[in-house]
Amino acid sequence: MKEDLMRLKEKTLEILSRSKNMDELNDLRVKVLGKKGELTQILRGMANLTSEERPVIGKLANEIKENLENKFSEKTQILKKALQEKKMEQEFIDITIPSKISLGSRHPLTLVLDEIRDIFTGLGYQVVEGPEIELDYYNFEALNTPPDHPARDVQDTFYITDKILLRTQTSPVQVRTMEKQQPPLKIIAPGRVFRSDAVDATHSPMFHQVEGLTVGEGFTMGDLKGTLVTFVQEMFGYDRKARFRPHFFPFTEPSAEMDISCIACHGEGCRVCSYTGWLEILGCGMVHPNVLRNVGLDPEKVNGFAFGMGVERIAMLKYGINDLRLFYENDIRFLEQFQ
Ligand SMILES: [Zn+2]
Repeated sequence: MKEDLMRLKEKTLEILSRSKNMDELNDLRVKVLGKKGELTQILRGMANLTSEERPVIGKLANEIKENLENKFSEKTQILKKALQEKKMEQEFIDITIPSKISLGSRHPLTLVLDEIRDIFTGLGYQVVEGPEIELDYYNFEALNTPPDHPARDVQDTFYITDKILLRTQTSPVQVRTMEKQQPPLKIIAPGRVFRSDAVDATHSPMFHQVEGLTVGEGFTMGDLKGTLVTFVQEMFGYDRKARFRPHFFPFTEPSAEMDISCIACHGEGCRVCSYTGWLEILGCGMVHPNVLRNVGLDPEKVNGFAFGMGVERIAMLKYGINDLRLFYENDIRFLEQFQ
């Protein structure tokens, strides 16, 4: 029996030294030291030993068991270490290889919005914000656009309920501000607006606007023109010409659209400006007396002017981008050009 035990030990150590991975090692451990393993099989013969032999063999068996267990755990450590080294080798990163570090950059719409904000805060305007989910009252009614008004296109508006909608313009912020703040006031209100439009090169169901409002005493169209010409010259350069065309908006009277001389051809006429030499840039006008009355102001005493522009439109003109969808696709090849 003593010889059986010694043989088992020798054989096990020999196989152990040749084991190349954890699976082999575990199999061997179960085969030799497991509950139904070879050591247990040998020790079954203890019953046939004399009472003198039994403790001697028992002691030897324990020594062998302990010795083998130590060897197994030694080998486990060696295999684990080898495995780790192999892994490190595979995952080796050569820090000497020249790399292309791509830093993130600000989105072109953010850049343009920041510039608009800078120009108007430089002119003394305060930046305010309003909710994107808006009451019909603020989006239309208070802006002199009652339910039966032809300027309301129900098709264009995302209604949530009869009285709640996604704002179609940033103009409701005008009303919300005038309700809380007494004139004189000068504010711009940047933000997202929503219209039920199909996506194409010039339309998106979500886009950005900046609203502007000035209310106080004795303002004229001259103040409006001076402010907006200053804005476009700061934004597009001092050689930029501007013109105002009569237009209609329910919440301003008189109303106008502002054009700037074409950025591509400088007014000579090209495809970008449809051979007119001009590009439409924003809508504006003197605040309608009804809008002032709706917030409890007396149009005989105070007046003002308002304007609204699309941020995407300004960005497209400024950077020569011809497809609105590029702003929302998050293609890194497009975005990294604005670093
Ligand atoms: Zn042109």
